[in-house]
Amino acid sequence: MIDTKHTLQVLKTHFGYDSFRPNQEHIITDILHKKDVLAVMPTGGGKSLCFQLPALMMPGTAVVISPLIALMKDQVDALQANGIAAAYYSSMQSPEEQEKVFSGLREQKLKLLYVAPESLPQLIPLLTNTSINLIAVDEAHCISAWGHDFRPAYTRLENLKTTFPGAPVAAFTATADQTTREDIRRQLNIPEASQHMASFDRKNLYLEVRPGNNRIRHILDFLRVRPEESGIIYCLSRKGTEKLAEKLRQNGYKASAYHAGMPADKRAAVQEDFIHDRSSVVVATIAFGMGIDKSNVRWVIHYNMPKNIEGYYQEIGRSGRDGLPAHTLLFYSFSDVIQLRKFAEDSSTKTFQLAKLERMQQFAEALSCRRVALLNYFGEHLSENCGNCDICKTPPRYFDGTVLAQKVCSAVARLKEQEALGMVADVLRGAQNAAVFEKGYNQIKTYGTVKDISWRDLQQYIIQMVNRGILEVRFHENGRLVLTPLARAVLFEGEKVQLATLVQPVKETAGPRTKKEPENTLFSKLRQLRSEIASEEKVPAYIVFSDASLKDMESRLPVNAEEFEQVSGVGQVKSEKYANRFLKVVAAHREEQLKQLPTQDRTFVLYREGLTVEEIAKKRELKEDTILGHFLTKHREGEDVELTQFISSEETKAVGKAREKLGDPESLRSYFDYFDGEMPYWKIRFGLYLAGAE
Ligand code: ADP
Ligand code: ZN
Repeated sequence: MIDTKHTLQVLKTHFGYDSFRPNQEHIITDILHKKDVLAVMPTGGGKSLCFQLPALMMPGTAVVISPLIALMKDQVDALQANGIAAAYYSSMQSPEEQEKVFSGLREQKLKLLYVAPESLPQLIPLLTNTSINLIAVDEAHCISAWGHDFRPAYTRLENLKTTFPGAPVAAFTATADQTTREDIRRQLNIPEASQHMASFDRKNLYLEVRPGNNRIRHILDFLRVRPEESGIIYCLSRKGTEKLAEKLRQNGYKASAYHAGMPADKRAAVQEDFIHDRSSVVVATIAFGMGIDKSNVRWVIHYNMPKNIEGYYQEIGRSGRDGLPAHTLLFYSFSDVIQLRKFAEDSSTKTFQLAKLERMQQFAEALSCRRVALLNYFGEHLSENCGNCDICKTPPRYFDGTVLAQKVCSAVARLKEQEALGMVADVLRGAQNAAVFEKGYNQIKTYGTVKDISWRDLQQYIIQMVNRGILEVRFHENGRLVLTPLARAVLFEGEKVQLATLVQPVKETAGPRTKKEPENTLFSKLRQLRSEIASEEKVPAYIVFSDASLKDMESRLPVNAEEFEQVSGVGQVKSEKYANRFLKVVAAHREEQLKQLPTQDRTFVLYREGLTVEEIAKKRELKEDTILGHFLTKHREGEDVELTQFISSEETKAVGKAREKLGDPESLRSYFDYFDGEMPYWKIRFGLYLAGAE
């Protein structure tokens, strides 16, 4: 039997987490029972922990097959930071480095060994003499020729099951489709593997789509309120990445381009800078991101529309792995659709790709909750709207767009169904450009009849009409718009058309939960310390602590090691290594905060921490009388201070009596004299207050 309490204990001690994410526990339990496992979890769902934890709990070494050195390095760094013996093996390493791995294995010191499938054969003789407790296959979809990351060496893993009969095989992937799953089972020789499908819902990702007009300006606005945050911008073309990165640099951002056409060392440098927070923005083609586990990517922008929802989801999934809010923004333009269609038309799997593109387009044009649409695509059905997408935040309102729709249809007809969306909109808005004049379109009747609607909005209304089946786009004929039978009903039979008003992007575009970060917040100070430690130890900052850990620290304000250990992500090793330094920053920050407070509040904070009057007085270098006066003030303000611990009920009564005898005098001096100086002023005040005299 597996002892849950023990598992949780190991989780806290080694990784610093208090609870499991969905599915983690079941997967781990299966592995501990030596069952083969196939787990499908979204990016950021926490796959690595599912094999790392059982590796620790079983005697022997776990072998992890992973496709990229960067990924292996990252995980090994993270494990070592938690004091766990882990290494990776690669044919690119020096003989000395390799020998270190070998001796680690021989001496049974390693808990986890990462290796690329290509390098595995060289290790097999050594591994068969080692006690192997688990074979984990990460990014297992690389096995499938159907997948997008196919790696031939992955198909040579079928012998693992027979070579290591005692070790369970656990395969992990973020790709959900049925064919890939079957491929993985077959090729890894694990037909009976228990299957774990986690939800693909990543609730912390805010989903937003904006029309692709003025993209650069939108991006600059977006970045302005996120000066320190890491993010990725995906572009379609290599040139596009370079131009945009340059533009961002001109505007003072630390941005780099990244694409497959760059030399390998340059690419590695860009990735390293990003991982180590030396640059904050990477403008990339889709080539970027797979090899990194950076947990504090706070936003992802799609400058161009991705060609399918799988790609889109994987790319936005690279943000917010730490579970904190992250913002994703997709720019949607019709010209992107046309270009992507061209690519698809040229491919051998044309129908398949066009269908996928269409689903992507539907998502971008959705007028109802985007997450519902997205998860629908992955076969999950949300029962409620998500509340964390642009549509949920600003639901569209509908208006009677019949007249507008008639004008659009009429323009399409008068342009003889030969023109694409852009020209139709130009004509309706009365654009004065050369193309319009050359073709004499300024002469037609509908020219300039929709001047009151912006280009952007008009374009969106026309897209809605396409989605409504009123117009059709002939993509393979330069995207010209043609009328459908429904259009004739709109034009001639009084068919009504409801259109949705458009979501206007929030000005200054701060994400719903992203606030600008002033320099002096505790979070930014903790971040500063984290980055100092990271450069001392030559590891990425997120290996030291994730943003989520720092946020938790900020809200818990630990004052001692014990409280520090409560923070999420703080295990035993990190607590020993870092508690002192972080506690110091927290304490200094509190001290500074305290200084800003009114004097009685500063006293009260110390009182809350359990200090006695004497201790507070000493610490604050004030008289005890003054401190007691502060207590009275706080009690008046409604705070919970037990005043009766300082004055007995007899004393209170005596003060009350004195008041009667003296005839409620103004000055406290009269009381003082009445008691012959035996009753201090503060106590007289307490007594009067408690006796109800004020
Ligand atoms: P995946 O490989 O599925 O994309 P990772 O294994 O990289 O995801 O995990 C994403 C992040 O979530 C990491 O920063 C990891 O430390 C964190 N994480 C994993 N499991 C937990 C948990 N139970 N509680 C809190 N954070 C977790
Ligand atoms: Zn929603």
